[in-house]
Amino acid sequence: MIGMHTPDAEMARLASKALLYSIDRIRVDPPPLGAPRPYEELLELVGQTITPEGITGAEALRLFIEVLAPSSIAVDHPKFLSFVPGAPTEASIIFDMVVSAASIYAGSWLEGAGAVFAENQALRWIADLAEFPESAGGVFVSGGTAGNMSALIAGRYWWRERNQGHHDYTRGLIMASQGAHSSVTQAARAMDTDVLLVPADDRGRLIRSALRSTVDSMSQEDRDRLFAIVATCGTTNLGVIDDLSASADVAQELNVWFHVDGAYGAAGLCAPSIRDKYIGIERADSFIVDPHKWLFGPYDSCALIYRNVHDGPRAHTQHAEYLDVLHSEQDENEPWLEMNPADMAHHLSRRARGLPLWFSLATHGTQAYTDAMERTLKVTQQGADEIRARPYLELLLEPDLSILVFRRLGWKAADYQRWSDQQLSSGESFVVPSSWNGETVLRFCIVNPRTRRQHLVEILDSLATDNP
Ligand SMILES: *Cc1c(COP(=O)(O)O)cnc(C)c1O
Repeated sequence: MIGMHTPDAEMARLASKALLYSIDRIRVDPPPLGAPRPYEELLELVGQTITPEGITGAEALRLFIEVLAPSSIAVDHPKFLSFVPGAPTEASIIFDMVVSAASIYAGSWLEGAGAVFAENQALRWIADLAEFPESAGGVFVSGGTAGNMSALIAGRYWWRERNQGHHDYTRGLIMASQGAHSSVTQAARAMDTDVLLVPADDRGRLIRSALRSTVDSMSQEDRDRLFAIVATCGTTNLGVIDDLSASADVAQELNVWFHVDGAYGAAGLCAPSIRDKYIGIERADSFIVDPHKWLFGPYDSCALIYRNVHDGPRAHTQHAEYLDVLHSEQDENEPWLEMNPADMAHHLSRRARGLPLWFSLATHGTQAYTDAMERTLKVTQQGADEIRARPYLELLLEPDLSILVFRRLGWKAADYQRWSDQQLSSGESFVVPSSWNGETVLRFCIVNPRTRRQHLVEILDSLATDNP
């Protein structure tokens, strides 16, 4: 029996088993797809694992390997094309384990200087991709939802400060596109703020004319409470990019915060072939990108970057007797590089969750990221060609990034669902139906460099049948 807080030989044996599993899992290509099991079945197979005496680490690990892991879908399977998949590099996964073992508190420079130094180099690479100035900086938070909300809180703080008390009790207003992610509306709800949705164009994008006419038709009262414009570079459902320059122009004209949600799509900044689509992002006050989506990192991680790094701490620094030691020497003229990550977002304690990305970038170099990104873009174009070549399919949108949206002619919602269920239960693929303009459609999101044309061909061929 392994002793608790007693690093004995038994512990070493358990560690080896866990590491062996991890190494196998990292190497297997493709990994088993996995599928959810109903609660009753899991209870039957796993039973009660939390007991006064414990069930032993060996048994808990066995249950995980044999039952619990296969009852979860592998996001890095090359035919997992639903939602936004993940494709963590081997290096990033290895380092995720190291981060846990190193027991670092990465909320403050005082406690986590070394880790924060490395995280900041990874953040700087991302800031440079967006051509942000030297004053830029930020933090890795848990995900796009947390990143968007933290950025918007900073934006509202900046707006209220600038208005010198005039808007301290004004209910704020955010302008976003119809294609914006649900987390923007969710942030507004948490912040007790309203959202004005700008109608998207026929490709699902926020464009200049719609932005213009929405602004022109705003009441003076709404105009006064508007504090932020959110544009998306890479909408989640369609993968399209809003007109970032138009959004920047309007934000500048109205003197409001400009936030860019690039949780999925801003990763494409490192691909020269599509870099032009992002013009205007360099004018944002803040933007986010999730390494756990298209930047080949493990969960959970979102890079939140402010154009002026001091905008983060002004809004987010927590003050408490036991924390004041961390802030005693902070001065806005000091180099920001020694600032506390805890002060940059709506959080306090944090894991150094940027280190897996940092280690992978340091291991492979940034060119490897560019190459992997271009590969996923190329496979997306090949997928578009394969769809066009099949008479029973119709591509609904030329892809901006790496999302393909298409219909299976003659199918109804139930047909899509039946086909999707079969694909998952047979371990073939994970492609759930989505919808666009009220119609059930199919959607591939390709972020995994291991996803090849042949994988897409196999899935598309399986759609040939009239009656799934
Ligand atoms: C996925 C996504 C989010 C939410 O990110 P999480 O990491 O899931 O919280 C926000 N915005 C966009 C555009 C996304 O694709």
